[in-house]
Amino acid sequence: MVKKVDTVVLDTLKERLKEIFGYSQFRGEQEVIIQNILLGKNTFVIMPTGAGKSLCYQLPALVSDGLTIVISPLIALMKNQVDQLTAFGINAQFLNSTLTKSEMTRVKNDALDGSLKLLYIAPESLTKEDNLDFLKKVKIAFVAIDEAHCISEWGHDFRPEYRRIYGIIENIGDLPIIALTATATPKVQQDIRKNLQMEEAETFKSSFNRKNLYYEIRPKKDTKKQLIRYVRNNKGKSGIVYCLSRKTVEEVAELLSVNDVRALPYHAGLDSNTRMSNQDAFLNEDCDVIVATIAFGMGIDKPDVRFVIHYDVPKSLEGYYQETGRAGRDGLEGNCLMFYSYDDIQKLEKFNKDKTVTERDNARHLLNEMVAYSTLGACRRRQLLSYFGEYLDKDCGFCDNCMHPTEKTKVQDEVVLVLRAVQQTEQRFDGEHIADLITAKDNQYVRSYEHDKLDVYGKGLEMNESRDYWISVIRQLVIFNYLEKDIENYGVMKIGEKGLSYINDPYPITLHKDHNFDEEDVKAEDEDKEGNAGGSAHAYDETLLGMLKALRKKVAKEKNLPPFVIFQDPSMEEMATTYPTTQQEMAQINGVGMGKVQKFGKQFIELISRYVEENDIETAKDVVIKSTVNKSKIKIFIIQQVDRKVSLDEIAEVKALPLADVIEEVEHICYSGTKLNLDYYINQVIDRERQQDIYDYFMTAETDNIAAALDEFSDDEISEEELRLVRIKFLSELAN
Ligand code: ADP
Ligand code: ZN
Repeated sequence: MVKKVDTVVLDTLKERLKEIFGYSQFRGEQEVIIQNILLGKNTFVIMPTGAGKSLCYQLPALVSDGLTIVISPLIALMKNQVDQLTAFGINAQFLNSTLTKSEMTRVKNDALDGSLKLLYIAPESLTKEDNLDFLKKVKIAFVAIDEAHCISEWGHDFRPEYRRIYGIIENIGDLPIIALTATATPKVQQDIRKNLQMEEAETFKSSFNRKNLYYEIRPKKDTKKQLIRYVRNNKGKSGIVYCLSRKTVEEVAELLSVNDVRALPYHAGLDSNTRMSNQDAFLNEDCDVIVATIAFGMGIDKPDVRFVIHYDVPKSLEGYYQETGRAGRDGLEGNCLMFYSYDDIQKLEKFNKDKTVTERDNARHLLNEMVAYSTLGACRRRQLLSYFGEYLDKDCGFCDNCMHPTEKTKVQDEVVLVLRAVQQTEQRFDGEHIADLITAKDNQYVRSYEHDKLDVYGKGLEMNESRDYWISVIRQLVIFNYLEKDIENYGVMKIGEKGLSYINDPYPITLHKDHNFDEEDVKAEDEDKEGNAGGSAHAYDETLLGMLKALRKKVAKEKNLPPFVIFQDPSMEEMATTYPTTQQEMAQINGVGMGKVQKFGKQFIELISRYVEENDIETAKDVVIKSTVNKSKIKIFIIQQVDRKVSLDEIAEVKALPLADVIEEVEHICYSGTKLNLDYYINQVIDRERQQDIYDYFMTAETDNIAAALDEFSDDEISEEELRLVRIKFLSELAN
């Protein structure tokens, strides 16, 4: 059922994106997805939380004739989305059991007269007879089914009403469907397609890699102290602390409160008023930290959560991934910390004792994966992605295992042995069995399959390694894709192409030792992740940003909206960088369209204008701002480029500036307190000995004056540039 669509519509999507939502770029596959649904084709979207699924149906809804129906499972989620759309000046409404009769009539009238663009509706309401009659009268563009995994019994969030959706849609008319979910197991995908009768639909599955999230696991020792220190180090930032039981939630919330953290509890045992008001306090920034059971979070679309802490070990990696996914949805900072102890695993195991055998087995598998993830020394991101069926060919460099690695070893014969053992047992056994076999464990299965007759039998013992060691090797080989997991049979190991070619042509690969959390010490201080990553200084004007945030909070209160609905953090940071003082300039900010400018812009523009006036800031577009307090565009550009290790010569060339001017800018940046790591460049242009001489000189000199330094080195043919560069290094390392 391919629709004829005006190609102008397809070609101008990007302009509409900017105009309506204020974004200048589509993210990932958003544009092709939107085109696909606009062409009237069924569309299946699998994207992790925070990747931008909503836009995939919101934008096409706005450029289509007629109404778009959005089926969504949670009332809280609907309200949130409708609030956000309304803030963009879009006519969106929801239809659910919370509406009064007259509200219901108004919504229906808006739909019938064509002014309503998006209608959010719960599956329960969709099945109501009179709603159905009404929908048959409305011109409908397409249907979006959010959280589509609720259709599947194999998912972790099955909702029987979801199974009836297709029948109803069919009843309304021949409508294209876009189904969206963040849960990606192959089994659930298959179920969704079948149930919605869209086996032919094109699937758009994007990477589950959330690059801005930092994953970290610490031993669960001195946990209270660690927690308080961590939260204090993140003062004023939004965070979620997940605990397993209501009791722990209460205790931890209390603990944080008495330690001057604005924290509130959230769990299903609280009465619904308290629960709602605590949730609102969190959304409205009246509280920084919410301490919660996993009851909290589904449908909470707060983009600026800066940390998610698992105080207790979660039941599954699915849960862990979903909960950590609530951090950094705006693409900025997102820290995910989990406290691990094997005691927690045993506790969780006890909870399962009343379950049926199959349920218990399943729960145990999930816990095993949790243990493996926590204890393996391999890159966390590679582990997580591998679990969701995605393979990353390099370590991420941005997780605790990458930044503080456990002991590494190069192995080759060991890998060949494991792969051959899998091969010789015909790829029909799990990792435990393989480990038993190569360590010659006296076990009935090994004997009954006559695996003790294989030439790999006992070879692992001869290499003097324990069964645990081999389990760790096998798990790492899965993560690195030398071994593959069988989808049909849990735990069974297969050899893929990569493994096969390895056997024929092996080479040394690096494996990591497992963590031993009983021995690992609690870190004395929270280490600075950014220190290594090469200075990620703020480019924005912090004073102004503070003022903008205060204003946003006030406006949010007045309008009774969460602050991020007004403007999101990345937009505010940009405002505090480019100082927009007119409506047009404001509309240029990422995430701010004209709709938003007209709705909320006035007070912000006034605030910025006043600030600019009082502080004598030049804002003319391309003029370099000369003041040292405020960082101009060129400074931001330099900071970004230095972060990417671009040479100063190249920066100078791109900006058509003499190198000396670039160095001068760098000096300004440094003198105003920003740490810049220029080592990559300095090491390239000045030899180490010379560097050391200059460095030593500044260490003992009375002044950092360049003329004095030139004088001192007058015999050594050291240039002013060299002196300046080393002085920057010196100041960055010692003064900032
Ligand atoms: P999901 O539903 O996939 O969890 P959302 O639709 O809530 O994610 O989007 C997450 C965040 O990304 C939102 O704050 C949204 O405004 C933002 N976003 C979506 N698309 C874009 C884009 N093209 N450019 C910039 N930000 C975007
Ligand atoms: Zn990593």
